[in-house]
Amino acid sequence: MFSNLKPQPADKILALMAAYREDPRDQKIDLGVGVYKNAEGVTPVMRAIKTAEKQLWEVETTKSYTGLAGDPAFADAMIKLVLDGVVARDRIAAVATPGGTGAVRQAFECIRMANPEARVFVSNPTWPNHLSILKFLNMPTVEYRYFDSETGGVDFDGLMEDLNQLKAGDVVLLHGCCHNPTGANLTLDQFQAVVDKMNEVGAVPMIDIAYQGFGDGLDEDAAATRLVAKSCPEVLIAASCSKNFGIYRERTGLLMAISENASLTPVTQGNLAFLNRQNFSFPPDHGARLVTMILTDDALRAEWQTELEEVRLSMLGLREQLASELRRLSNSDRFDFVARHRGMFSRLGLSPELVEKVRAEHGIYMVGDSRINIAGLNAQTVPVLADAIIKVGA
Ligand code: PMP
Repeated sequence: MFSNLKPQPADKILALMAAYREDPRDQKIDLGVGVYKNAEGVTPVMRAIKTAEKQLWEVETTKSYTGLAGDPAFADAMIKLVLDGVVARDRIAAVATPGGTGAVRQAFECIRMANPEARVFVSNPTWPNHLSILKFLNMPTVEYRYFDSETGGVDFDGLMEDLNQLKAGDVVLLHGCCHNPTGANLTLDQFQAVVDKMNEVGAVPMIDIAYQGFGDGLDEDAAATRLVAKSCPEVLIAASCSKNFGIYRERTGLLMAISENASLTPVTQGNLAFLNRQNFSFPPDHGARLVTMILTDDALRAEWQTELEEVRLSMLGLREQLASELRRLSNSDRFDFVARHRGMFSRLGLSPELVEKVRAEHGIYMVGDSRINIAGLNAQTVPVLADAIIKVGA
């Protein structure tokens, strides 16, 4: 049986991590993998998570199964965090999932169950896992233009033109904030225009929100998702707690499905729970419980928000520093987009050849499409990166 299996393509980012580990140079810099790192290069356990874990150890009396949808308190707390009451709770079905990836996967499966004809429109580029899961599920996918490599911003005209192909029942996958891999984001006005287009043809939005709190703030980063949620009759939302709670390996996420009216919610809820049952049965609980504790306890929440804000501001500071260093060295403003981008990533717009040159000659590892993880930098390495970018001739 196993002899029938074909080798799978290597994950580019994991391969990059391995190459980085094997690089003997002392001054090497890893800007590849998408985890937050502090100035010391550590991905810390957040303070509020540590406190909540300690409290949980004291009070937890059982590790028996939760429900198929996970703990309802987790869904309530996350729905409040993401949507803040813009949609009536009784229109929202929700299930806990293993990470944001689990939510994305099941959102796709839900789409396929509800409408096998639906095409999923994805930004070009998007998080590669979107494409590979869609391909794995054999779902028709259409790319829409998104990134303008000349300006480092969004190619909004191209995007709107490509959305002209939408038909009723198609799905448009949008990043709620902090677009991965580009760092370039739609303005709220542009989101509104996309919403109008989707509503005009009867297309359904799906939002992937994996970095709430990493861009402009918790509410600011949720603003686009809330706009879509209150403006469209049906919406899917996949939310990840991996980054903003720093609980990557706990696999904590929530899939939400907003139905047109509350009478449809029980069946939608039943279908999401069914998908959990088929795929893994009960979702992981530890991370979800910590998130619930933090979001529902004033002291823990304040502690979490303070640290999240430190994380956000440190990345913004690095962006400013990198943009100004590149302005100085290039004698131009052509890299200023780095300061305008939001979230953990920026696509620099370097050719694969230059990306390779930066790696070979300067020991700086970025993804082949020139995506850098801003959090892989610190105040000392920003000038090193800027210098390398200019020296290779970018
Ligand atoms: N969506 C996007 C756009 C992401 O960047 C990520 C994390 N890389 C996820 C979803 C899911 O992350 P996780 O499964 O670790 O929660």
